[in-house]
Amino acid sequence: HLSQRLATVAKYVPEGSRLADIGTDHAYLPVNLLKRGLIAGGVAGEVVRGPFENAQHEIKREGFTAQLTARLANGLQAIEATDHIDTVVIAGMGGTLITQILTQDYARLAGVQRLILQPNVGAHLVRQFLMTHGFKLVAEEILAEDGHIYEVLVADRTTTPVTYTADDLRFGPFLLAAPNAAFVAKWTHEAERTQAVLQQMQAAKQVPTAKVATLRAELTQIKEVLQ
Ligand code: SAM
Repeated sequence: HLSQRLATVAKYVPEGSRLADIGTDHAYLPVNLLKRGLIAGGVAGEVVRGPFENAQHEIKREGFTAQLTARLANGLQAIEATDHIDTVVIAGMGGTLITQILTQDYARLAGVQRLILQPNVGAHLVRQFLMTHGFKLVAEEILAEDGHIYEVLVADRTTTPVTYTADDLRFGPFLLAAPNAAFVAKWTHEAERTQAVLQQMQAAKQVPTAKVATLRAELTQIKEVLQ
């Protein structure tokens, strides 16, 4: 049984695909997809030994060692050409780390048609990566679960480059087009947080002007979208 967050990620894994789940932890996602007969197999990658052993254990327990390989590796280095991976999931990390992982071993994405990325924070960095690395967003979701708000970004390989506006990058083109309650909650909270930081800065003696200007611009951008 997957969390709503991982179930949303799972929804976008194409049927019959060969999946690499990078930072898999317990390998819950790929094992669940195999149980439901939705993927052919793939790789569960982990850079930390403890979670890697959890993944190995789970795969063995559920009887999928023939279809799913756990690999102890940094990021995309878990993917070998002979795995024929066509879909990559990176979920439950910050946007900075997700972007680093994708950039570091970009060549390993040869053959990958779809990326499903679930940044906990910093989704704009992930969208910026997609825009500049031959992928285009095809769907986005935002959801609230257990007091957290999560974004899921789905992107496919493209030969026609896409350009996202500053608003698209920050808020997500699909989320902007159909803002739901989670979207409004997230950005209302962000606006309040930015406002509070600005007030603290203005109360302080030395105000870093550039930083204030950036935050002001951010606040304006958020408020315009929330209107
Ligand atoms: N993907 C699962 C999910 O969404 O529920 C687990 C998320 S867990 C919060 C993040 C996992 O990513 C951790 O198990 C961590 O060890 C792993 N991780 C962090 N950096 C990594 C990297 N460079 N390569 C592979 N795994 C990484």
